[in-house]
Amino acid sequence: MSSFVGAIDQGTTSTRFIVFDAAGNIVASANQEHPQIFPQPGWVEHSPMDIARNTEAVIAEALKAAKLTAKDLVAIGITNQRETTMIWDRRSGAPLHNALVWQDTRVDPLVAYFSGQGGKDRFRAITGLPLASYFSGLKLKWLLDHVPNARALAEAGHLLFGTMDTWVLWNLTGGVNGGLHLTDVTNASRTQLMRLDSLQWDDELLRTFSIPRNVLPGIASSSEVYGEVSSGPLKGVPIAGILGDQQAALVGQTCFEPGEAKNTYGTGCFLLMNTGTEPVSSAAGLVTTVAYQFGRNPARFALEGSIAIAGALVQWLRDNLGLIRSSGEVEALAASVRDNGDVYVVPAFSGLYAPYWKDHARGVIAGLTRYANRGHIARAALEATAYQTRDVVAAMEQDSRIPLQELRVDGGMVVNDLLMQFQADILDVSVVRPQVTETTALGAAYAAGLALGYWKSIDELRGNWGVSHTWRPRMTKEDRGRLYASWQKAVTRSFNWVE
Ligand code: ADP
Repeated sequence: MSSFVGAIDQGTTSTRFIVFDAAGNIVASANQEHPQIFPQPGWVEHSPMDIARNTEAVIAEALKAAKLTAKDLVAIGITNQRETTMIWDRRSGAPLHNALVWQDTRVDPLVAYFSGQGGKDRFRAITGLPLASYFSGLKLKWLLDHVPNARALAEAGHLLFGTMDTWVLWNLTGGVNGGLHLTDVTNASRTQLMRLDSLQWDDELLRTFSIPRNVLPGIASSSEVYGEVSSGPLKGVPIAGILGDQQAALVGQTCFEPGEAKNTYGTGCFLLMNTGTEPVSSAAGLVTTVAYQFGRNPARFALEGSIAIAGALVQWLRDNLGLIRSSGEVEALAASVRDNGDVYVVPAFSGLYAPYWKDHARGVIAGLTRYANRGHIARAALEATAYQTRDVVAAMEQDSRIPLQELRVDGGMVVNDLLMQFQADILDVSVVRPQVTETTALGAAYAAGLALGYWKSIDELRGNWGVSHTWRPRMTKEDRGRLYASWQKAVTRSFNWVE
């Protein structure tokens, strides 16, 4: 009897396959990192073939380690790094270019060009998003305009565009032999090409960006049987859930009620609050996005505060400065000093996202004196994630008018006790980590399992959620105010670095 649900989590740093039981516990898992490609400052790419290979490899590895076969799985779901954009030839399955990763800033000139004709917020009412280098639409335009032959192939009907969910689905369902070319509403809502009111591609936007409609995938719900795996160890297993990674984490954290929110601390940091069946437009610098749509039920929306660089700053301390050998070492180094020594790191490596949306910001280290040492830099790097989260929470409270009661957290950085305590301190609310922190994969599994009736209702999913740890605020009001004021000063120093 089939008794588990699997999820492919195609993330920014790695690709995982995780198998869950009905209680949401992990029964099998495998993980492979792929190279980050930095061709020049501000550019970030992934090789789509690396990702396709790793997807196959992690599926095989996880199944083998746990002695599972296709018949043990009711369904699988897909979750993915959002906005990362690629194009390929449907006849050969060959990508025409590396994928442009969400953090890539090469479309800055396009942002400036389109903002110049009506402001950064000219597409906000339709798409929920400000003009920024972050979203897929302009990345796709760049590929069409710069990759030799791309437009000609598009005109001939041979070119396909996809975010990573679409690429993974197309390959799993047969690729050149009839692969499905689909995305879900959550991923589509990050392209800046989809209308939030109709959940359809918008012809006017496509005209504005010169994007031919025939390269775009169909838009499906986040939970339905799209098709089945065509070959390999999962042959015949239905693929029944697709959610962008942050929306998947919201589902995995069972934030199904308006006002419920989670923050995921990975490469970047993403705080999403469920706002129910109506999109809430933001005045405070957040984005409006589709949270999920389960089958034919009405779509749910979310307000989101996206932070480009969180854990990536820890990786930078490791890879670019050599301050630590592994990400985990940052905690001990940060704990080697009493406090930040008045040092602040603003990691505006890809500009600043929410709530500032400053494409021309670049990173700064502020407050250096001769007293500052490696420990202070490490501490300031961790604190940067907590301060950026506070900036976003303030915007969230302003837009939603709902004061945050507690913050549910997940992602690779939540093993860091020093960071989580500081987060509770600087927010002055409790920070709660659930038992299963692989909420991204879990959310995709939930979407797939719901479509097959493996889980009967969202109430059943809520029953799976349990607390593993709570951090309570213990900083004085004076300290909190003083530290945050210095952070805000440091942030302004990063603005307008690039002209
Ligand atoms: P993603 O899904 O974006 O690939 P993950 O959720 O796997 O990211 O988190 C990985 C990130 O977490 C990396 O940027 C890494 O530097 C960071 N990280 C891992 N362990 C720690 C730690 N102990 N303290 C701080 N950051 C950490």
